[in-house]
This record gives sequence, C-alpha cells and structure tokens, in this order.
Amino acid sequence: MKAVSLEKQSPIEELPLNLSEFPVPEPKAEEVLVKVEACGVCRTDLHIVEGDLPLRASPTIPGHQIVGTVAEAGAGVTRFTVGERVGIAWLHHTCSECFHCRRGEENLCSEARFTGWDVPGGFAEFTTVPETFAYALPSTIPAPTAAPLLCAGIIGYRTLRRAGVEPGRPAAIWGYGAAGHIALQLLKYWECPTLVFTRTRRHQEEAKALGAEWVGTADQIPPFLPHSAAAFFPNGSLVPRALELLEPGGILALGGIHLSEIPSLNYDKHLYRERTLTSVTNATRRDGEDFLLLGPGDPDSNPG
Ligand SMILES: [Zn+2]
Ligand SMILES: [Zn+2]
Repeated sequence: MKAVSLEKQSPIEELPLNLSEFPVPEPKAEEVLVKVEACGVCRTDLHIVEGDLPLRASPTIPGHQIVGTVAEAGAGVTRFTVGERVGIAWLHHTCSECFHCRRGEENLCSEARFTGWDVPGGFAEFTTVPETFAYALPSTIPAPTAAPLLCAGIIGYRTLRRAGVEPGRPAAIWGYGAAGHIALQLLKYWECPTLVFTRTRRHQEEAKALGAEWVGTADQIPPFLPHSAAAFFPNGSLVPRALELLEPGGILALGGIHLSEIPSLNYDKHLYRERTLTSVTNATRRDGEDFLLLGPGDPDSNPG
C-alpha cells in the first residue's frame, strides 16, 4: 500500500514527509483493518512532523481523523463486519484495566497510545484499530466532511462538556479555529446564546454567519457573561480575562494541548463566586459516540 511517512522531523517547508510503499498491516485479534477513504490534517500532525512533539516511532505514518470501511476483521471481532463505515480518532487504545479506564476516563490512562504518533495513522491506504476504539459512522455522510469531526469535533464537544454547557444557557468560545467553529454549531443546536472572542475579522464574520450572538476581541465588553466558556487559544495570558468574564458559578475549560504561561490570578477578580478553571485531555469514547450520534430530535442530545 502507499503511505505518507515521516522518518526525520523538520519544518514542513523542508518537505519531511515521503510517499512510499508499505506492506498492508494485518489486523491482530479484536482489531479491524480499515481501508482509508479520507483522513483529516490536524495541527497535532504538524506538531509531530515538525518536532514539537517527540517522534515515538520511525517511520511514523501520521493522521488521526480517519474515515474508512472495514476491509478485514481480526479474530474475535464482534462489533463490525467487512464493508461497514468506521471512524478512527486520536486515542488508538488504552490499558482497559487501570482506575481511569474502568471508570470510563480512558483519556486519562497513563498507557494511552495515539493514532499517527505511537501507531501508524491514516495518511495511508490502510490502517488498523482495536474494534472497541473504532466509531460506527453512517455511510451517507461524505468522508471528507466526516473526517474533521473525529478530532476537532470530538475535542470541541468534550471542551463544551467540561465547561458544563447546558441547553439554553449563555456560553462563550475563545479562539475560533477547527474546534471552535464546530463547537459554535453545537451551541447553536442547543440554543445557547454564544459569544465568540477572536481577533481576525474573517473569523469574526464566519462566527457571526454561523450564529454567534456577539463577536469581538478580548478587550471588548460583551453584552452578557457566559456560564460556560470553551477556550481553544494557545495564549495563556488570556486565561484571567476569560475567567473575569464568567458569570458567578461559571466554568472555563481549556481545550488545547499547548498553552503558554498563565499570569498570576487575583482571587476576587478571577475565581471567587465559585468560578471553575479546568482543562481537557484528549477525549473518551463516550464523548465521540455521543457527539457523532447527535442529530435533530435526538433525545440524548443533552451535553451533560
Ligand atoms: Zn487532532
Ligand atoms: Zn488504563
């Protein structure tokens, strides 16, 4: 099979990725072999290619927003049959036995292994995944449309969930990129009046067109304070401002992997009145399943 692989990390301008031939992987017990239809490109792929994250395998086949069909089922596979549409996300597998795994918090497992970093990913014609970490996807949605939902979408959803989003309650999105623009659509679906804080005019216009109640920059005063704020910025200096602009009891969830230093906080200004600051580490399979199942009239669409 053909695959795009990385042996030596370097700036993307130096073209570190190579298209070459690899053997088609064989699915182990309880794994499926997936014929890739589409794979999204995520900022994390760039972090791996350029060396912001260490290389964990050489060669590495990046890519963790994979849509494909089951081409072969390994021994003992019961969830999927050949020809079914599946999605593969960043979390490739975990230990399944530790305290966190047993509680459904496998995103916190210290043995977690990641698609396109620890194990070969989706910039290839075929890849494998444990069946319990594959997502069932409808065959009706075009693969390039579904692919970004598997990272930006799931992370956006988990960030909103961590921020305690409730249908109809005011919310905010800080930083409008891949995850932010999907999170905004979810908030609109839940009828949450939403503020979007973003610097660029183009993103402000896009957010307005997608249903933001108000768009502006961090130094502006919004018309209301959100209960839930989901932050997708890499700039830690914005954290005090985002806390300051929460309503009493509000929650700020930081959805990014990388954050620059957070300046010192003032208790009264930033935290008192029971405001909460929390982070997001990857996502659980439940997040992915709940998010991908969302649809109009879905009785389980409550984010809680
Ligand atoms: Zn990603
Ligand atoms: Zn575990």
